[in-house]
Amino acid sequence: MPLPRVIGHRGAAALAPENTLAAFRRAAVAGARWVEFDVRCTADGVPVVFHDATLGRTTDGRGRLDRTPLAALRRLDAGAWFGPEYAGEPVPTLEEALGLLAALGLGANIEVKADGDADAAATAQASVAAARRVWPADAPAPLLSSYSPAALAAAAAAAPAWPRGLVRRRLSRDDLAAVQELGCRSLHLDHRRLNGVQVGAVRAAGLVPVAWTVNDADRAGRLWRWGVAAVITDDPGRMAAAAGEFIETERRGQ
Ligand code: MG
Repeated sequence: MPLPRVIGHRGAAALAPENTLAAFRRAAVAGARWVEFDVRCTADGVPVVFHDATLGRTTDGRGRLDRTPLAALRRLDAGAWFGPEYAGEPVPTLEEALGLLAALGLGANIEVKADGDADAAATAQASVAAARRVWPADAPAPLLSSYSPAALAAAAAAAPAWPRGLVRRRLSRDDLAAVQELGCRSLHLDHRRLNGVQVGAVRAAGLVPVAWTVNDADRAGRLWRWGVAAVITDDPGRMAAAAGEFIETERRGQ
């Protein structure tokens, strides 16, 4: 799985309103090669790029996203809360987002969010269907990640060849067995609860360790030294500079 050392979190959440097309453009300008973003389904079953279960934090709407049809969601402003220059930025559909990422040449880590197993499976299936419509066949397949084993099992059935990653706040023994059972390639862990021994255990199990959400360059350097493959960061420009320094230091050390 050709992951770069740096993946933009929700696009580039420190630089532009998270999970918007503006955030993906900023991530590309900042030098990111991949971005992570969250996907949920609207009331009418359309996968859209959105983090929370409810609309209040990142839009001018209220209530639950999964009770809001796409047409109503599209009237909301998902940018003004971040800054006036982003006023009018809509919640993107997954298809729109993937179309832009393909045009920008960015890789995609689609994190499937859901409430409950049925929703998780349906959201994973809808995400794969959307990606099949717009994602170029010659681009690296999207990485589908989720906290939900049900989402990952559905992704495995819908797109067996696409890589999958389990997201966890803290590594447990059960997780290593679970990821093998689900055929996951990567394990996405909260860096604050991660140490070098655990990173070694993940790698020894044949899995790719990914750490979130890393915004400190020194911490990123330590994670890479431990063997973390990629850090997910709100500020991909700053972390890309740190990755360059890390590679240079490693080269000099040899
Ligand atoms: Mg996420």
